[in-house]
Amino acid sequence: MKSAEIRQKFLQFFEKNGHTIVPSSSLVPGNDPTLLFTNSGMVQFKDVFLGLETRPYKRATSSQRSVRAGGKHNDLENVGYTARHHTFFEMLGNFSFGDYFKRDAIRYAWELLTAVYKLPPEKLWVTVYQEDDEAYGIWRDEIGVPAERIVRIGDNKGARYASDNFWQMADTGPCGPCSEIFYDHGPEVWGGPPGSPEEDGDRYIEIWNLVFMQFERDAAGNMTPLPKPCVDTGMGLERIAAVLQHVHSNYEIDLFQNLIRAAARETGCADLADNSLKVIADHIRACSFLIVDGVIPGNEGRGYVLRRIIRRALRHGYKLGQTKPFFHRLVPDLVAEMGQAYPELAAGAARVEQVLRQEEERFGETLENGMKILEGALAALPAGKPLDGETLFNLYDTYGFPVDLTADICRERQVEVDMDGFEAAMARQREQARAAGKFKMAAGLAYEGAKTVFEGYATLKAEGRVTALYVDG
Ligand code: ATP
Ligand code: MG
Ligand code: MG
Ligand code: MG
Repeated sequence: MKSAEIRQKFLQFFEKNGHTIVPSSSLVPGNDPTLLFTNSGMVQFKDVFLGLETRPYKRATSSQRSVRAGGKHNDLENVGYTARHHTFFEMLGNFSFGDYFKRDAIRYAWELLTAVYKLPPEKLWVTVYQEDDEAYGIWRDEIGVPAERIVRIGDNKGARYASDNFWQMADTGPCGPCSEIFYDHGPEVWGGPPGSPEEDGDRYIEIWNLVFMQFERDAAGNMTPLPKPCVDTGMGLERIAAVLQHVHSNYEIDLFQNLIRAAARETGCADLADNSLKVIADHIRACSFLIVDGVIPGNEGRGYVLRRIIRRALRHGYKLGQTKPFFHRLVPDLVAEMGQAYPELAAGAARVEQVLRQEEERFGETLENGMKILEGALAALPAGKPLDGETLFNLYDTYGFPVDLTADICRERQVEVDMDGFEAAMARQREQARAAGKFKMAAGLAYEGAKTVFEGYATLKAEGRVTALYVDG
């Protein structure tokens, strides 16, 4: 089953069950300035869940474009390292606004997976929140999942991968237990069941998360039951596609294979299994959709996250030996894969190419020299020592290497980076810029402000006009 068909079947199933199909909203959340990017299907319904907005329907379904890079949910560091994380992905979801609750949410999910998508039930595992006896009972007694495959999970706050089965919109407001559905890709793949120490492997993969908004938490931490509990679910299209296409990695699904081939064509890489091709294929999706939704590469906030993703893709191209602009040439291939489901992508393709090309030309000037500096520093580094903050800062400030990009290269070589040293170098530079600004004011010269946006690196720096901004989503 092709990705497009899987998406279609999901939406049709819920439409048949009384849900209104709602189009994906923008990656730039219109209703939430605190959120960097739309990172799940519920974002566009946030005010509906909060009771601040009403809609003509009580049940909705969507396929939401989502980005998890920077900000609260950040999967950028997982891309290229796990088989299941992307910076950009599509989240299929169904939502109940005070209508049905746990029982129907669980039944719908099970019916879709086993009767429509025809997954073998014995390959499915579920988790519930440790105190949620109600959900546990529905899974075991009504659906018939054997107790050995139902795992109770607590809230593992702060753990990088470990499941956390209690969801909250924010510190106060709606919250409640989750129930997640996992697929077992089989013993050939390393990993353990949810809740086990090996769960961060890729054998048991979380495909669907059902969130039951059951309580309202106040500032003092008291939880009161919501008069009309709600449901919010999310299933990664790429993950369910991997399952249905009998492949284990998301990168082996139809859509990604075509993008990987395109990346190989544009970089001249002969090995289709090369990890860099996966990263490039992932990043072209995130970057193109962010640009379609109005983000442009820059030095702050959303624009800086976009710039970081683009530069990481270009560095992977460089690693494969491609020193010329290539990334923007993948846009038509992406349109071929996703333009039908997202007409705004097809409509904006020319602009996307242009923005990417500009960014490629700009970074191309310093990438090669920066890489030489980095290689030199790494070669001179005594074994076991982290890369020093001055080098990190120099690469950032003069060569336009976002610090996470340098850290990623170091990670490939099993070298740590001295982030404190980097921050210290940054602070020193800020202080100097402030002092220079004050001096200019005193001398009656124009004050350019501490937020001067820099465009080039070496030249502007040489002219003393640069105040580098380091922004972490
Ligand atoms: P994981 O534990 O695997 O990181 P999650 O618990 O963070 O996933 P949720 O916030 O529950 O993910 O999102 C709902 C669904 O979206 C997940 O069950 C998964 O199918 C999908 N998903 C989440 N993050 C990603 C990602 N970075 N790339 C692709 N799919 C994702
Ligand atoms: Mg996650
Ligand atoms: Mg999870
Ligand atoms: Mg989850």
